[in-house]
Amino acid sequence: MDATGLLDGLTERQAEAVTSTGAPLCILAGAGSGKTRVLTRRIAYRAATGSAEPRHVLALTFTRKAAAELGRRLEALGVRDRVAAGTFHALAYAQLRQWWADNDRRPPTLLERKAGMLARLAGGAGGARVQPADMAAEIEWAKARMVVPERYAEAADQAGRQPPLPATAMASLYRRYEDEKRRRGQLDFDDLILDCVSALTGDPAFAAAQRWRYRHLFVDEFQDVNPVQAALLACWRGPAPDTSTDLCVVGDPNQAIYSWNGADPSQLQLFSRREPGATVVVLDDNFRSTPQILAVAGAVISAGPGPGGVLRARRPEGPLPWIRSFDTDVDEARGIARAMRDRHRPGSAWSDLAVLTRTNAQLVAFERALGAAGIPFRVRGGGAFLSRPEVKAALAGLGPPHGPVATGLADVAMSLRTPALEPAAHLDLEDVGPVPEPDGPAAERLAVLEELVRLGHDYLAHEPDGSVAGFVAWLGATLRSEPPRASQDTVELATFHSAKGLEWPVVFLAGLERGLVPISFAKSDAARDEERRLLYVAVTRAERELHCSWARERTVGARVMKRQPSPWLEEIEAARGALAAGSAPSGPAEWRSRLAAERARLRGARGGQANNRRRGQLQVGGDADPELLAALKAWRAGAAKAGGVPAFVVFHDATLATLAEARPSNRKDLLAVPGLGPVKAERYGQALLEVLAAHPTSKSKPEA
Ligand code: ATP
Ligand code: MG
Repeated sequence: MDATGLLDGLTERQAEAVTSTGAPLCILAGAGSGKTRVLTRRIAYRAATGSAEPRHVLALTFTRKAAAELGRRLEALGVRDRVAAGTFHALAYAQLRQWWADNDRRPPTLLERKAGMLARLAGGAGGARVQPADMAAEIEWAKARMVVPERYAEAADQAGRQPPLPATAMASLYRRYEDEKRRRGQLDFDDLILDCVSALTGDPAFAAAQRWRYRHLFVDEFQDVNPVQAALLACWRGPAPDTSTDLCVVGDPNQAIYSWNGADPSQLQLFSRREPGATVVVLDDNFRSTPQILAVAGAVISAGPGPGGVLRARRPEGPLPWIRSFDTDVDEARGIARAMRDRHRPGSAWSDLAVLTRTNAQLVAFERALGAAGIPFRVRGGGAFLSRPEVKAALAGLGPPHGPVATGLADVAMSLRTPALEPAAHLDLEDVGPVPEPDGPAAERLAVLEELVRLGHDYLAHEPDGSVAGFVAWLGATLRSEPPRASQDTVELATFHSAKGLEWPVVFLAGLERGLVPISFAKSDAARDEERRLLYVAVTRAERELHCSWARERTVGARVMKRQPSPWLEEIEAARGALAAGSAPSGPAEWRSRLAAERARLRGARGGQANNRRRGQLQVGGDADPELLAALKAWRAGAAKAGGVPAFVVFHDATLATLAEARPSNRKDLLAVPGLGPVKAERYGQALLEVLAAHPTSKSKPEA
C-alpha cells in the first residue's frame, strides 16, 4: 500500500498521529479509538515514506494474544515479515540468546516449576495455609518492580503488600530462591528481561549493536508497562539526550489491568512530563462499539474514581445490552450456548462470538456446554482446561489407569487445602514470548483444580466405580467434541485479561457475580479500582451485542454456593435503564447528561441522607393511584426493614410512582420501568406484582 493509501479511512486526528514527526510520540485514547490501528499504520506509513526501514522497527506489546493481533494487522499492511513484533519477553529472550552465542555461553535452562522449588525451599514455612503459588506471585511482583531480596521487606511495606509470609521470611525465601536458581544455571521467566537489561548495560558493544538494529520502537498498551520492562525499553533507547532511537507509545489509562502484577500505569500519565519534547496526540472517537455498548462502558468506568468518560460512538445504533440471570452456572453456560446457536445463521461466523469470564476456571463450564451443543470453540488465556499444566499434573497424579478414580480425586480435593500437592506454576520453552496469565495468583490455579474435582463428582455420579482411565476418557469426550483445527472458524472463550486489545461482534460476559466481579481477593481500594477497569476492558470488546449474565447458584469443587449479582451490574442496569427510557440519542452530550442523571440516582441510593434533596428533585408526581402508591410504600417499608436498609435503597419514590402509574402485570413489563433492572426484578419482582395485583385499577375492580 502506498503512503496516501495508508491514510485512507482515518480521521483527521488519526492521520495526524500516523504522520506526526514528533519523537517521542504518545498517543492517548480510549478503548476502540483506533490506537492499534494507528500504531500499525504508522509503522507501514513510515516504511512507505522511507522514514523508518521495517527491519529497524521493534513493535512491542504485552500478551501473546495482543502480539498475534499486532502481527495480523501488520501482515494486512504488508510489513509483517520485515518488522520484529512480539512481547517484551520474547524479544528479550531473542536478544539474550544472541548475547549468549556471541559470548560462547551455554544458554541457561528455563525453570519449569517455580512453585515446586519454592515449596521445597520454604520447607513448610508459614504452615499449611501458605501456598507456593502465592510465594511465587510475590516474587514475580518484586521482580517486575526490580526489587531485589535485600530491599524486598521495605518495598513490600511501602506498597502495602500482604505477603503470604512475614516480610523478612519472604525476603529470605526470595534470596534462597535466587541463589538456588543461579546455582543450577537456571532462569525464570522474569529473569529474561532482567538479564537482558544486565547484558545491555554491562556490554556497551552489544547495546550499540542492538540500538543500531532497532532504532524505531513502538509500544502498544503502554499503560501496562512495568518498571522492569520500562528499564529494558530505556536500555534499548540508549542514554537520554543523545538517543537516536525514536519511540512511539499508545495507551489508555482506563485500561490499566496489570498493576497487581507489578505494572505501573503512571508511566503513561507521566510520559509527557518525563520526556522533554514529547508530542501527545489524543484520539476521541470510538469505532468499535455501538452507542449502547459505549453507554454501558461509560457507566461502568465513570462510576469509579478514575477519569471516567463516555466515548463518542462512530458506529450506528444497536440493540440494548441484555442482562440475564440463571438458576445455576450450568444453566448459564447452556443458555449462552443456545443463544449462540440462535445467532449462528448460514453465512455468519462462529468467530463473531465470544464468551468472556473473570477467571479461567469459569471457562470449563463453557467448554462443556459448547462441546455438548456441537459448537466449535477455542480457549484463550490459560488454555483449554485439559491442557492447563495444573490439570495435567493432577490427572497424572490420579494413580494407575485401572485404579479407582475416587481415591485420586479425594487426594486432589485434599491438596486444595494443603500446600504439599500444590501444582507448580509451569513454564516451558513453548511459553516464552507470552507473559504468564494474570488471572490472580494461587486462587486461580486452585479454582481450576476445584473445577476438576467438580467434574470428577459429575463423572462418579454416572459411574460410581469409575477408573482413572475412564475419567480421563470421559473428560476428553465431555470437554471437547472434536479438537478444533488451527484455521477453523470457532467461538472464542477467554478471560477478561486475555481479551485485552481484541474485539468481537457479539460478546457474552458471564458470571457477573459478587466475588468474581470484583474478584474476592481484590480487597484494597486500588485492587477494586483495577477490577473495575477490567470490567470496562471486557465491556469494550463488544462491537454490536453485549450479553451480561450471572447465576444464582454456582458449584465450586464439591460445594454448591448461593450467589449474588455483581454490585457493578447496577451500573450496567442504570445505563440500560437510561437507554431504554430514551428515544434515539442525538449526540454525546445527551448521552452524558442522561447517564449523569442515572448515576446521580444510583449514587443517591447508595449515598444516604446527604443526597436526599437531590433525589427529591427527581421525584415525579403523576397520575398514580394514591391508594396503590400508599400500598407500595407500605410494602417497601417492610422490605427495607427485612433487608436492614433504608427505604430508598429498595426503590426510589420516583420508581414507585411510575410503578403505580404503569401497573405492570408481568416480569417483562416490570423491566420496562426505569430504575427497575433485572437485579431488583429478581429480588422484589414477585412481591411487587402481588402488591399490584391486589390493587386493581378502579375500572377493572370487580363489580360488587
Ligand atoms: P483497544 O483500546 O481496545 O486496544 P484500540 O484503540 O487499539 O482499542 P483499534 O483496535 O485500533 O482500537 O480499533 C478498534 C476498531 O475500530 C477496529 O476494528 C478498527 O479497525 C476500527 N477503526 C479504527 N479507526 C477506524 C476508522 N477511522 N474507520 C473505521 N474503522 C476504524
Ligand atoms: Mg489496541
